[in-house]
Amino acid sequence: MKDISCKLLVIGAGPGGYVCAIRAGQLNVDTVIVEAAKVGGTCLLVGCIPSKALIHAADEFAKVAHFAAKQTPLGISVGDHSIDFTKTIAWKDGIVSRLNNGVAGLLKKANVKIVTGKAKFRDGKTVEVETLTGQQIIRAENVVIATGSAPVEIPSLPFGGNVISSSEALALQQVPEKLVVVGGGYIGLELGTAYAKLGSKVTVVEALPKILPQYDAELTRPVSRHLSELGVMVLTGVKAKGMSAKGDALLIETADGKADKIAADKVLVTVGRKPVTTGWGLEEIDIDMDGRFVRIDDKCRTSMRGVYAIGDVTGEPMLAHRAMAQGEMVAEIIAGENRSWDKRAIAAVCFTDPEIVSVGLSPDEAKEAGHEVKIGLFPFAANGRAMTQEGEEGFVRVVAAARNHLILGIQAVGQGVSELSASFALALEMGARLEDIAGTIHAHPTQSEGFHEASLKALGHALHI
Ligand code: FAD
Repeated sequence: MKDISCKLLVIGAGPGGYVCAIRAGQLNVDTVIVEAAKVGGTCLLVGCIPSKALIHAADEFAKVAHFAAKQTPLGISVGDHSIDFTKTIAWKDGIVSRLNNGVAGLLKKANVKIVTGKAKFRDGKTVEVETLTGQQIIRAENVVIATGSAPVEIPSLPFGGNVISSSEALALQQVPEKLVVVGGGYIGLELGTAYAKLGSKVTVVEALPKILPQYDAELTRPVSRHLSELGVMVLTGVKAKGMSAKGDALLIETADGKADKIAADKVLVTVGRKPVTTGWGLEEIDIDMDGRFVRIDDKCRTSMRGVYAIGDVTGEPMLAHRAMAQGEMVAEIIAGENRSWDKRAIAAVCFTDPEIVSVGLSPDEAKEAGHEVKIGLFPFAANGRAMTQEGEEGFVRVVAAARNHLILGIQAVGQGVSELSASFALALEMGARLEDIAGTIHAHPTQSEGFHEASLKALGHALHI
């Protein structure tokens, strides 16, 4: 097979890698992308997209079940209802497949050459790829490492049999009767909530004293309350120790040190993700690491000239939109533009029920950073649109510097607040002050009025509370 030489080689076609390759192609950079599996990466194949499809299906089913169980104030009632879960999974697979074809089409349109197979470094600028038709050598002036991340395995609870990762949890053919989720982070809680709505008896086991530890208690309280209403048992301060000999129960150590077990058809382990930095020659080329991650600077440059790294392989927050933004930036740098990274405004969204969104600093983080703060909190209970959608739980909270009213952070918890994340990020990105949001006319009736009112509240003159 003839060797390939190119200006840019991207290793890994997740959201970081494929966006980088598309943008580079648009800028007429001669680009090759190597992908071991299918284009789209974790996010499209076994992450963001399939999980949100499952969550949507579970929400719809829960709605019907709710109407069937009792006469609701809306006057809607429903008779028999059921779910054919194999069809649900097939529908989810159809969405993944459409998007997968779409990404392949976009790469083609941008004149990017796709090589399928696992890339292995020979040196910092050369890789070999075992393709179905033989070994392909690729040499490049610039290399972008975008190999992403994989689920962390607990040594005493290896994946296999009834112990599954998020990837398998998104491809089950049957709703498990008893599901134990090990790890109360966003992935475990999103999937655990979905399966609880689909009918599983769900238990969440978390070693820390609190679920969703990256968010403060004010934000997570509505999520905990709703988990409890769904019948999800949340056990904090509890350690998973292994599986029972029969593979039908999770062995645990309780908060007071006692051994116990929880019956389980499936044990879903979601205790974090690890960067893919081994098994493909990265260790053999001399690149500086930052703990487990590839060390990068504000232009995503590694310690080796012409070698960049983006996405999950470079550290937290491991989010698709961060990977995409880095990919776009690196492509433009390689095409000769002067770009650098400002991570101030990366929204983190948790698609639990209710949803949580957070951009910038929380009140505690702002205080720890030395700011004197003004905080405005507006509850959805006082928002007309939220009432019309039966979504009165939750709030929008704005954190600003007392000195000059510069907005430092915005958080919200509530039904559908993921869609507010863009205006929150925009406010931070534009360096908005409370007066900018207060002076922006927000459409009525919308949930986004909560952002307006929270800003007014911080200024001391909310109108609807
Ligand atoms: P990845 O998407 O992991 O892609 C890396 C690619 O590189 C893979 O396709 C892999 O096959 C390929 N690869 C690795 N090594 C090689 C090699 N040697 N040669 C060739 N190819 C290689 N993020 C969000 O922002 N929002 C969400 O709602 C969200 N939900 C999630 C839900 C779940 C269940 C999971 C697991 C993750 C979720 N994430 C979410 C995280 C998101 O998926 C990741 O942050 C994102 O995929 C990272 O993109 P990436 O390009 O860095 O890497």
